Amino acid sequence: MRTGKTVDIHCRCGFLLFRYFKAGKGRLIKLIISRLSEDNVGLQNVQTFSRPLCPNCASELGIVRIIHGEPALKLNQGSIQSIRI
Ligand SMILES: [Zn+2]
Repeated sequence: MRTGKTVDIHCRCGFLLFRYFKAGKGRLIKLIISRLSEDNVGLQNVQTFSRPLCPNCASELGIVRIIHGEPALKLNQGSIQSIRI
């Protein structure tokens, strides 16, 4: 059985960036873009190695890379509010 839950990911400024189905436990390091259930940044169309910004405060959220064959956002831990599951 798959474990996990949907988490809200906020920028440090409080803006709701994403809702994401997080599998397993532990710290959120990366977001698989196809698994976002809500995307207020517009990651669906971004290019690999781009660095998306918070639409509200323009802080850099991380870098888009291909992880296990899928586009994913590797999070800049300093830009998001910490999430614990
Ligand atoms: Zn922000």
